[in-house]
Amino acid sequence: MTNTTPYVASTSAVSTEQQTILVIDDHTAQTNDIADGLTDSNYKVTVAQMDTTIWRHIQRTQPDLVILVLAQPDAGALAICQQLKQHESGFLPIILVTAKTNANEHLDFVRTGTDAYLFQPIVKQEFMARVDALLAVRQRFSQLLSDNHQLALELADRNAQLETALQTAQELDLIKTAIISNVNHELRTPLLQVKSSVALLQEDIPPETTAETLINMATQAIDRLENTVTSITQLAESQNVNLGPTNLDESINLAIRQLRRSSKFPIQEYNRIIQNYPKHLPLVLADKRGIAQVLLHLLDNALKFSPDGGLVEVLIEPQGREAVGIGVRDPGIGIPTTKLPHIFESFYQVDASATRSFGGVGVGLTLANMILRQMNSSLQVKSEPGIGSTFYFVLPQVTLPD
Ligand code: ADP
Repeated sequence: MTNTTPYVASTSAVSTEQQTILVIDDHTAQTNDIADGLTDSNYKVTVAQMDTTIWRHIQRTQPDLVILVLAQPDAGALAICQQLKQHESGFLPIILVTAKTNANEHLDFVRTGTDAYLFQPIVKQEFMARVDALLAVRQRFSQLLSDNHQLALELADRNAQLETALQTAQELDLIKTAIISNVNHELRTPLLQVKSSVALLQEDIPPETTAETLINMATQAIDRLENTVTSITQLAESQNVNLGPTNLDESINLAIRQLRRSSKFPIQEYNRIIQNYPKHLPLVLADKRGIAQVLLHLLDNALKFSPDGGLVEVLIEPQGREAVGIGVRDPGIGIPTTKLPHIFESFYQVDASATRSFGGVGVGLTLANMILRQMNSSLQVKSEPGIGSTFYFVLPQVTLPD
């Protein structure tokens, strides 16, 4: 460097401490001067020689600025500048310092994207101003890239949320449509049964019909009505999910209490449910009442579709430190493989015949799945006819700080 201008330390707003400058030389004497000047200005400086390993060296050390100090610009230097500019993933500034050349050589480097071209003898003040300015641009560029990346992540997250909301809304719409088209059957049929049973009881009862049969018919019809009304109410409630650290044992106990309170099954049936999981369980990110509602549906089905008795197990299996699997296993009638893809559709029942001996309207699994989807989970099933079924889902563990 010439000594005509006093050395002026960096005054830009750029933080110089973090930034690494790679000075590449071709054995000219000026490199040391340049490196020393930059070090005095608090930049981290490394010096490397212009040879065949330089490209690998740059990739390994990932500098923030490259300064090529060459006696004469040559084809090798031009190739390095081209390579650097072609492969830069952000903005890697390059300064070329050489002896004065003719205009054409200078332009070749400008065309590669070389950011500054300084002729020897360089003036310290100008040189440092270029270094500071280019590093400031690099920093702003990196900040922009990082902001952009953050925005892209947030956008992807938002899109995923919207997708779930849209899916839930579409599903809800389908269920509403299905309810409306099923209302005739699901509400009117039992209503008519109650009406005609009561009317027969008021009038002369035909000899072949006893009062007890009519009362049983009316009671069953009322139960069916109640089931349908409950499902519709739950449909509305299934949209209010509040995520937070959740103790699974509490949700399971809540589900069992609610099931017992419903008195849908003879009292001894509830004793078939066993809670088969470790005492100390990790917390999961979920909605306590939502999970209880899902388990209520699964336990109801497990008891209902295992008419020959046997244990209904609630299973919990932590999966590493990230997730927890929750399942309900029954030794019941099972589901044929061809029917499995349909059981989560609203109002779908494997046996939809009039002689079907199980209650229910066919929306339990749809509701359970809708609730789980709002917790970024979904129901899975393994089933074999005559052997039984396991319905399960996975929730994320809550990691508490150590
Ligand atoms: P519902 O139980 O009211 O009929 P669901 O939506 O809960 O409606 O279930 C849909 C269908 O899936 C049931 O009708 C039944 O055919 C099948 N299913 C659900 N759970 C079980 C189970 N544990 N074992 C056998 N079949 C089941």
